[in-house]
Amino acid sequence: MSARVLDGQALARRMQDELRPQVAAFTAQHGRPPGLGIVLVGNDPASQVYVSHKVKAGTEAGFRVNLERLPDTATLDDTLALVERLNASTVHDGILVQSPLPRAMGAGAQQRVFDTISSEKDVDGFGAESVGLLVQNRPKLVACTPAGIVEMLEREGIPIRGRHAVVVGRSDIVGKPMALLLLHRDATVTIAHSRTPDLAAVCRHADILVVAVGKAGLIRRDYVKPGAAVIDVGMNRVTDAATAADLYPEGHPRIALFSSKGSLLVGDVHPEVAAVAGALTPVPGGVGPLTITMLMMNTLRAARERVAAAQLTPQ
Ligand code: NAP
Repeated sequence: MSARVLDGQALARRMQDELRPQVAAFTAQHGRPPGLGIVLVGNDPASQVYVSHKVKAGTEAGFRVNLERLPDTATLDDTLALVERLNASTVHDGILVQSPLPRAMGAGAQQRVFDTISSEKDVDGFGAESVGLLVQNRPKLVACTPAGIVEMLEREGIPIRGRHAVVVGRSDIVGKPMALLLLHRDATVTIAHSRTPDLAAVCRHADILVVAVGKAGLIRRDYVKPGAAVIDVGMNRVTDAATAADLYPEGHPRIALFSSKGSLLVGDVHPEVAAVAGALTPVPGGVGPLTITMLMMNTLRAARERVAAAQLTPQ
């Protein structure tokens, strides 16, 4: 048996095709496009790449996207002041602050910044109010990666209600919101993490296995119940030949790619899992493309709700 490939790239394209006319209709009706303000502090190379993808995808879909940059010498106060300016802006419906922030800002800086984004513009869903609403199952804006995974499961016809879902990873941005979204769709949910004994045995209970760890090839064939849907969130850049060889047999096209490029982007799920899973997201091209699409959907939703709230408010 070979797992059905859950093609996130194709799904993201379909969703963007659905989104574009909705963005155009909003723009025609309100005389301005839905707007997204992205804050990038410093020069982290990976963050610059992520942000450029977000700017490109948003602009192509018809959004107004403004990239607001601060130098890596910027203070927490500088960053909070920029967020407050975007909170007050009438043309920005969504605000995203790219993480990580420079280390010099200190340990609590990131959450402080997320919590300062006004909840109706919190399109990343990382602020305390957004998370609290999700916990109570009255979500407003939900973290994009787990929201994209639910969208994929639903559109691919993978049942959630009554199924056992195991989420490996308990981060605030993926694992925890993922577990809540599955719970609210009536899955029985187990959350596993680095202190979980016998991870393989826990994972083998899963009808739906979501893995968000950040360790190349962690999930092996014997971790997976035959026929399970396996969602691989991990994005790991492999640069050593031994790890690449552990993941792919000699002669595999990805080994040839590794030899020519010197690196490979791989997930947390070992490719051998395809022989036992019922459905599997590839890396790259699985969960990743959905994350940016969900950011656009959240921005459009925020724009509609802000406009509706303004119409209800007496002038
Ligand atoms: P994170 O904040 O580092 O959290 C990793 C989680 O994995 C932690 O809860 C950790 O447990 C757990 N863990 C670590 N080693 C483990 C092990 N051996 N067994 C079981 N659990 C283990 O990471 P994240 O931000 O959630 O991201 C996870 C991965 O997803 C990364 O590769 C990231 O690049 C990727 N990602 C992809 C997208 C996308 O759009 N495709 C979006 C976000 C993240 P403890 O809590 O006990 O430390």
